[in-house]
This record gives sequence, C-alpha cells and structure tokens, in this order.
Amino acid sequence: MLVGCSVAAVLVAGGCARVATAASASPMPTAPMSVAEPSSDPTPSTSPVPDAALVGRTIVIDPGHTGGWSKKWGYHKVPNGRGGTKACNSSGTATNRGYSEHAYNFAQAQALATALRAQGATVLLTRTDDRTASNKLCVNHRADLLNSTPADLMISLHADGDLGRGHRGFHVIVSTAMQGGAGVISESKRLATDVRNALQTKTAMPRSNYIGKGTAYSFRSDLGTLNFARHPAVMIELGNMRNATDAKLFTSAGFRTQAAEAITSAVVTFLS
Ligand SMILES: [Zn+2]
Repeated sequence: MLVGCSVAAVLVAGGCARVATAASASPMPTAPMSVAEPSSDPTPSTSPVPDAALVGRTIVIDPGHTGGWSKKWGYHKVPNGRGGTKACNSSGTATNRGYSEHAYNFAQAQALATALRAQGATVLLTRTDDRTASNKLCVNHRADLLNSTPADLMISLHADGDLGRGHRGFHVIVSTAMQGGAGVISESKRLATDVRNALQTKTAMPRSNYIGKGTAYSFRSDLGTLNFARHPAVMIELGNMRNATDAKLFTSAGFRTQAAEAITSAVVTFLS
C-alpha cells in the first residue's frame, strides 16, 4: 500500500552466495554449441545451460511488510534515508475479503525466486518467512542485502490499497533520493521501464489507471526501502488489493507465476 509501503529491511541469511559483479558478469551466449565435435580436450564441460540467462547474477527480492507486524514494532521511528525519520514499517493493506498484502508479497516473492533461479540466478530474500518482525525488517534495513553483497539489483514487491472507485492496475516506483546517487537512480529508471513493459505485455494486470497518468511510473523520495539502496532497485505495486478484479488475480497462483516470469524477463533484459 502507499502509506508506509516503504518497508525495508533485511534478514541477512547466512551464506549469501557470492557472485560476479554486474560489471564483470557477461551475458550468456545464445548461439548453439557446436554439434558433436570430436574434442581432444578431455575436460568435461561445466558450462551452464545456454538459456540460463542469469547465471552469475544475484538478485535481491524484498517481500514488503511482514505477518509479524505489531504496533509496538511497526511504529517506532527509524531513519528514512534522506535525513528524516519515519515508522519502522506499516502493516500493509489487504483485499476486501481479507487476503493480506504481506502474505501476497511473500507468495509472490516465492514465485519470483523460483523463476529467477530457473534462469540460473542466485536469489537473496530480505525475509524468508511471514512471521518475523525483526528490526532488520524496518524500512532502513531492507536494502542491506543489496548493499552488502555483490547483488545486481533489488525488486521490492508490494500491492496497493487504494479505495478509489475503479482504481486498479500496477505501477512501478523509483526513488528520487537513492544513496547510490544519480547513476543508480538512472539505472533504476531503466529497470522500472523493463519491468513495466514486461508486466504490461506478459500479464493480465494492466497499467495503473490512477498512478502515473497512464505511465505506471511513480517517483517518490519517502521510501526508505529504496532510499538506502546503492545499487539499482525498484518497488513494484503489482495492483490494487482493494479492487475486486485485481484481488482475484492476487489470489491466483497462475497470475503469480505469470507476474514472476514477466519480472524475470525484465531482469534478463535489464542485465543483458
Ligand atoms: Zn506495501
């Protein structure tokens, strides 16, 4: 949801896999391997499969909010990444039938992790369950994994909670106050474009009809999750939970897979 969506935090899972940096990792070859060529080299090939486009890449997924939210935990103030403070985290929104945003975000994150790993990516999650309320899940820590590992980028997953009649559709948020500076903001805009185009063409969710004047972009400076990022990061509001049509999509595993594959294709495009 908009207010307090800016979650941010991180569960530093032990053994964050190390991967090549964005600068040194090269796209996977797409040309077919030579066919049955007799080789004098006895060394067995350890090359990844040719279509695993994200081998050597590390992607951070941030499932917004947490099911462990409480007033005591969520309302305490933390740095907002631009000199002020804000609440550690909000509870998130829910559909009119009671499907919570934190549960959707977590389920969508699992689907996205599966799709990214199928392309060979190493995936790190800012939270690995939907019960924890560690202070590492406050908005000022959600970019920690992105900043402390050789990760290429972060995708923060949310869903909006707008009560406007007929308001529906996804939008992609870019921070205008990222700690990574102008270059990272520019790259994040490019990532947002790839994500927007993929969601538009590969999923049943349309662009937002109430945010971004038809562009499905939102530029904000109040989201700690994005403000602390020193590498490309975007927040996706995958739709409006208060809209019945969008809500039906959120509760569909088929849609979640569709969205995961769309976002994965956007990541491939961005990193290629
Ligand atoms: Zn949210």
